[in-house]
Amino acid sequence: MIIITQPRVTEAQIDHIVARIEQFGLRSQVMRGESRVLIGVIGPDEVVRDKPLGAIPGVESVVPVMKPYKLVAQENGSLPPPVSIGDVKLGSGQRVVLISGPCSVESKERMLTIAKAVKQAGARVLRGGAFKPRTSPYSFQGLGEDGLRYLAEARAETGLPIITEIMDTRDLARVEKYADCLQIGSRNMQNFALLKEVGRSRLPVMLKRGFSATINDLLLSAEYILSEGNPRVLLCERGIRTFETMTRNTLDLNAVPILKAKTRLPVVVDPTHGIGLREFIPQMALAAVAAGADAVMVEVHDEPEEARSDGEQALRPEVFRDLVRRLRAVAEAVGREL
Ligand code: PEP
Ligand code: MN
Repeated sequence: MIIITQPRVTEAQIDHIVARIEQFGLRSQVMRGESRVLIGVIGPDEVVRDKPLGAIPGVESVVPVMKPYKLVAQENGSLPPPVSIGDVKLGSGQRVVLISGPCSVESKERMLTIAKAVKQAGARVLRGGAFKPRTSPYSFQGLGEDGLRYLAEARAETGLPIITEIMDTRDLARVEKYADCLQIGSRNMQNFALLKEVGRSRLPVMLKRGFSATINDLLLSAEYILSEGNPRVLLCERGIRTFETMTRNTLDLNAVPILKAKTRLPVVVDPTHGIGLREFIPQMALAAVAAGADAVMVEVHDEPEEARSDGEQALRPEVFRDLVRRLRAVAEAVGREL
């Protein structure tokens, strides 16, 4: 940490700051500039981080030198870069992976129909929600374990590995029994008990950005999972809440190159929730690939009018098929493949 002192700091205050640093068992280095005195605080990061340095009289601000998300940071060489869902590798650089399926698992037949359609179109991971985080308690909450079973049956039929959301620590064992990857939804991005629990899972975790979360918040939530021992984390940009009312959310594609630069974790983009308007999802999916996403996740439904959640933003299978063709072209244009 570097302490920046106030412009009119006194010598007595500087001595006091140095004494406090030493009482904490840390070392200090005083640097006198033209107009400011800076004090370097030297010692183990985990000790320095917890000390109330900003509260010492004469301190204006405290600037961290180390990134607070040290396990997810790009320079951490010990992480295995690609994360596998089943046998599908994400984050290998070249390959863009398509993840698709309905918002909710609605019935066995429907799940199978959609799974076959998205597989045929080019999706490599199947997604569907059995436990749904709904804004209203009166909206469809998902089929629960039946939904997990239908997903597993769709995997058996198509060979696609499955990703599904977990909302409650008490469901982990049940969801792990069926899923190949756990999804933490936006609303739970800072449910720290849940993050710690999935941090002890053997399964990879796709962590969706909270709609009011900064990129830094997302990275720190990922750090929770890694710090419990699970390095298999995918970061998902799914749109944030802004003052814009024309779209469901504002898909923050700025996050893609920033996350790629700051971490070694694969980045997924979800243009479906990101814009929330069916007719514009394809454009944003194409933009996600151009921006460098490792995977793109799109909701597809064979009868959007009958969907029990998010029907207004589901693509029909034929539209998805056409989108895949265009995604392939964009991937090639930026030196990648689908
Ligand atoms: C979803 O993925 O269907 C979902 C509910 O997403 P989010 O958590 O991003 O709102
Ligand atoms: Mn949805």
